[in-house]
Amino acid sequence: MGIERLVDTTTDVEDKEEQVLENSLRPVSFAEYIGQERMKNNLKVAIDAVKKRSDGATLDHILLYGPPGLGKTTMAAVIAHEMGANFRVTSGPAIERAGDLASILTNLAEGDVLFIDEIHRLRRAVEEILYSAMEDYKLDIVIGKGPSASSVRLDLPKFTIIGATTRAGAIAKPLQDRFGLVERLEYYTEDEIKKIISRTAGILNTKIEPDALEIIARRSRRTPRIANRLTKRVRDYADVNGDGIVDKITAEKSLELMEVDDLGLDPADRNMLNLMLENYGNRPVGLSTIAALTGDEETTIADYYEPYLLQMGLIERTKSGRRVTEKAKNHLEKTKKI
Ligand code: ADP
Repeated sequence: MGIERLVDTTTDVEDKEEQVLENSLRPVSFAEYIGQERMKNNLKVAIDAVKKRSDGATLDHILLYGPPGLGKTTMAAVIAHEMGANFRVTSGPAIERAGDLASILTNLAEGDVLFIDEIHRLRRAVEEILYSAMEDYKLDIVIGKGPSASSVRLDLPKFTIIGATTRAGAIAKPLQDRFGLVERLEYYTEDEIKKIISRTAGILNTKIEPDALEIIARRSRRTPRIANRLTKRVRDYADVNGDGIVDKITAEKSLELMEVDDLGLDPADRNMLNLMLENYGNRPVGLSTIAALTGDEETTIADYYEPYLLQMGLIERTKSGRRVTEKAKNHLEKTKKI
């Protein structure tokens, strides 16, 4: 992506210590998972129903979709935990060949949960094998090539696939149809984000004062991954520059240093909005043009920048492209003055 973005929603686990910390922040049960009440209720009902049955029923395959950093991976792990099942993780791009998928599936045990992140990036040949695996737990593999090739059908243990994607629309219809449950993750409310920050601060053993909590929450893009990241950075700043307690001034100063403004925008967001404004005013701009202006991939704009900007009413989607709103214009003028 070029620039290192503080409000980047991709994972940024740099080292082992960071990984341990990251793991300690992840909620493991429904009770610890804050927000997404509608999704949690639907999933609880599904899980309870399976647990009540005595015929060895398996949990339906589940598709979780929504912007990055909202807790899809976390929820998948929570589901496995609540089912008392093993949790196996892979991703669309990691499964390069049909054989890779075959080896993953044949190594599963009955009841296992297989999480496939970025499932919209599965290759076509791999995806087709997944269809019958998901539908009737059979694996069709072709042995050999040319006229002597033969096909073998293997029985698989009953497992649950949990797929995650940033865009449900990017998934082929036949694959989508094989998910019994499809759940969309929503942006969190500011109150939920505050709860997440408080929980994280508790795990980090950091005291955050209420008005500082307010400031961090407002700049977290309603996204737990960013809330956690900002909390860690603010904590570090307080440790180095003060007595370790995060008060209003510490929070404001450290966020200012990170150049995250009071709507949670970072320099990359503001740069994109400014480029759109300077070149097109408030006329609609196509995705490919925006990508050319910022030098990013179209998918980066669509998956990482756009959802939050749309949610905040800073850009609008029209038939002929994306348009910067009056709200964004005012915001940019205000932040320019600072
Ligand atoms: P996604 O898979 O949607 O990109 P993740 O599940 O990796 O997002 O979540 C990012 C981080 O945010 C996780 O490390 C986790 O600690 C935190 N997180 C996500 N959802 C919640 C939640 N509902 N409550 C508390 N923390 C959460």
